[in-house]
Amino acid sequence: MKNSARDLLSAYVDSLYPIIYINHFDFKVIDEIITDITDNRKIVEYNNGLGIVDFKAKSTMKECDLYNFLNLVKDDGYEHDMFIVLKDVHSQLDKPEIVSLLKYIAERNLYNENYNASVFIISSKLCIPDELEDLITVFDMPLPSVSEIKNIMVNFTKDLEIDVADDVLSEIALSFKGLNEFQVKQILNLAYQDGGYLDFDDKRLILSQKEQLIKKAGLLEMIPVNESIEDIGGLENLKEWLYKKERVFNQLDKAIKFGVDIPKGIMIVGMPGCGKSLAAKATAKLFEIPLVRLDVGRLLGKYIGESEENMRKALKLSEAISPCVLWIDEIEKAFSGVGSSGGASDVTTRLFGQFLTWMQEKENTVFIVATANDISKIPAEFLRKGRFDELFYVDFPNDEERRKIIEIHLKKRHKWNKDLDIISLVKLTSGYNGADLEAIVKDAIESCFIEGREQLTTEDLKSAQKNIKSISSTLEKRIKEIKEAVKDMDLKPATQSEMTFEQGEKPVKTIRDRFEESRKKHEESRKKHEESRWPWTVILKE
Ligand code: ATP
Repeated sequence: MKNSARDLLSAYVDSLYPIIYINHFDFKVIDEIITDITDNRKIVEYNNGLGIVDFKAKSTMKECDLYNFLNLVKDDGYEHDMFIVLKDVHSQLDKPEIVSLLKYIAERNLYNENYNASVFIISSKLCIPDELEDLITVFDMPLPSVSEIKNIMVNFTKDLEIDVADDVLSEIALSFKGLNEFQVKQILNLAYQDGGYLDFDDKRLILSQKEQLIKKAGLLEMIPVNESIEDIGGLENLKEWLYKKERVFNQLDKAIKFGVDIPKGIMIVGMPGCGKSLAAKATAKLFEIPLVRLDVGRLLGKYIGESEENMRKALKLSEAISPCVLWIDEIEKAFSGVGSSGGASDVTTRLFGQFLTWMQEKENTVFIVATANDISKIPAEFLRKGRFDELFYVDFPNDEERRKIIEIHLKKRHKWNKDLDIISLVKLTSGYNGADLEAIVKDAIESCFIEGREQLTTEDLKSAQKNIKSISSTLEKRIKEIKEAVKDMDLKPATQSEMTFEQGEKPVKTIRDRFEESRKKHEESRKKHEESRWPWTVILKE
């Protein structure tokens, strides 16, 4: 990590980037890198809290303000090749006199052959004044790669004399990915102190530490996940696709080494209340990774550039806690108007561009699940091939799916019994969505309870149905619009095939059987994998 940071920073200096803004909190790490690339240059340092500092000894040489410091050193670049290191000065960058002096130095560095001074601004807060925008280059410390993390871990285990199997190290290193060196070491210490050894539970520790990061930043929302893929009635195509990807996500390290492309994500569009959000949650549960929600509205700031900076941070954060599912709900609202004439604000358009570029270039283990109702309002660039692995369309549940959904909600509430004639309810509920069906089940159970009966009856369900109108009837116009918008799109149906029951017919078993079969097979292979993977055999040397 330090090597790549050093090479990149050195290239910036050689290419005469006049002001390099290093957005980082760990001054020690940055000092080491700057020292590595000094190449006999003179280094002067100013620290906002301390004044002028001896770069090597780190002792305060003189208390003074930033203006006086810059005034003092501004012409030194004629005499020496030099680095000017400014720490924690972000709060002063809006002062016109500071801007002028920084401009003075930067312009000389760029245009005067006899002058050579590069400025480094180092701060964990990024504040770039408009006047300096073209002269400042933001440098993000590259995060350690998996092999670099593995090295950190090897050193850690050597220091503490702990024996850890190599494949175990690789697997843990992968879950650390996205954190910086400091954070990795902190978590390793915590994990070690919590019992004197490392084991499977420590993976949860990594996750909870990552959650802390999310909470502190306040840009993303961590969503607790209780729903599993078995809680989704129907949507077999989508579920089968997810099961396949689960095999990749649950053994990422192995898959990457094998040469498998990391899945990017999916877009799920379609009818309201038909399980799109449910699928996002179930995906995280299936992949056994955290679910974080990106709410674009939450990123909007009042200062120029603040929203873009928030988006940058939010995306970096999602990488920091990856592997994870990044869920963007109602994506059509988040980026509404982008691409249509006079639609979106400039900020929204820029945020959209930023997100798209990130998505295009991303080589991380953030799995995106974007959900939307109205595809016509989604910018076309999003829907192009290659952005998402797959675009799924969720329609109203067919007969078989409604049966399944009703059963799921009855079983969830322990009210399913073999005397219930679910098929007759299925026949009455064409055009109902999953949420409507859940409401019927809830109402029926409530009535049954109020009337003091133990066993739920078909009549309870049928009378609840009479009181609940289907969404297709209450939102007729809106539903038509959604259907119209998807008509000519190349979307994959989330449902396997349209099925209806004729009067008295038994439910079709094939889809369910096929799905159950695949689920069981999958569960077996998952168990096998778990057994070979856990417990992490970490033995403390005597
Ligand atoms: P919206 O577009 O309005 O956000 P959505 O498609 O995201 O809707 P969900 O939030 O997933 O809909 O569904 C609402 C609730 O309805 C779910 O929490 C679940 O209880 C129930 N539901 C919807 N679809 C299904 C389904 N296919 N299987 C089981 N339950 C479902």
